[in-house]
Amino acid sequence: MTNLSEMPTWLLFTPFILLALLWISRRGRSVKHNKPIKLPPEYFTGLNYLLNDEHGKALDIFVKLVETDWDLVDTHFALGKIFRKNGEIDKAIKIHQGLIARPSLPDEYRSKVLLELGYDYLAAGWFDRAEGLFKEVLIHDSKSEEAKRNLILIFQQEKDWHKAIDVGVDLFLQGASDVGIMVSQYYCELADIAKTKGDVSQVAYNSKQALHYDKGSIRALIFLADHEMDKQNYKQAVHFFEQIEKRDAEFFPVILDKLIECYHRLGDPNKLLSYLAEVESRHQSLAMIEKHAMVIERYQSKDAAIAYLTDRIRKYPDIRGMHSLISYKTNQSDAGELTLLLDLKSALVKMQMDDSEYQCHHCGFQSNTLYWLCPSCQSWAEVKPTMIEAA
Ligand SMILES: [Zn+2]
Repeated sequence: MTNLSEMPTWLLFTPFILLALLWISRRGRSVKHNKPIKLPPEYFTGLNYLLNDEHGKALDIFVKLVETDWDLVDTHFALGKIFRKNGEIDKAIKIHQGLIARPSLPDEYRSKVLLELGYDYLAAGWFDRAEGLFKEVLIHDSKSEEAKRNLILIFQQEKDWHKAIDVGVDLFLQGASDVGIMVSQYYCELADIAKTKGDVSQVAYNSKQALHYDKGSIRALIFLADHEMDKQNYKQAVHFFEQIEKRDAEFFPVILDKLIECYHRLGDPNKLLSYLAEVESRHQSLAMIEKHAMVIERYQSKDAAIAYLTDRIRKYPDIRGMHSLISYKTNQSDAGELTLLLDLKSALVKMQMDDSEYQCHHCGFQSNTLYWLCPSCQSWAEVKPTMIEAA
């Protein structure tokens, strides 16, 4: 017998959890039929085997018991979950395969057993087998949201975007509106692939589909804006870039260079300057302040740019304003001044800013790369630029 001190805590309680579950299920039935609670003696034999760490013998008894009394099935599900959670996936699989092999398995439990076995295979990394089981669930229950969500995650894992879209759209139309964001991102993945291949019509098609399933998709808007820029259709590109600022201002620094380029190509600096001033009245970022100053210098004068930065510091005396002014001055200073300014700039960076350019709003993961699917928590479109605050 296993030394109790060596057993995981959960295992010590497992037989009692099972006993409690059994008692609850029996009590419900007994109250209903006004009969005393009666537990089968084999059940205690099974619990004894479980306590003695003889899992094989315990499972054999439990699986045989259930065939004569399907009220016990909940205890099997509980036991399977505990084994799976503890990494003993082979035992969880044995329980669920044992159930599925029983010819007397009632139809009402079939989908549940298939789902549980599917989770076992997922935990074991056998995605093909899990996929087969979740599809089998849909044969019995064509609306099973649980089976569809799991299939979507398998296809996402395998980067099979077409299959993920098919199931995702099906679930979306079934009323699961939250799946829209995922479907949108899968279309963006297809747009990305098309872009790599230079297939411009597929870039446009997939981006529009992405926007259809998630009206606020920044990624889709970036694809569409880039697509218009490639076609030298700068007015339409500006339209998409400005949509990004309206829908999620945090992404504005990401597209600012391209937006400035579009206005430059359109030969409309005054509109650009008034647009930047208008956006800055709503929110500000370091990148924006610096670029705004550069635009002022480009189309007006160096003195006007410095006047803009100085005025901004007077109105909003914060570190990011000083940082911008110093950055700007480093472009104009002689060697002696430059060293001092660069030292000041790095000191300000340490005081105010985080090293990471992007952060996941869901789990806090930080990175210098913009990930659309957070590598840490697997959330879509939660990683956003940092270094931005309302004025
Ligand atoms: Zn995350």
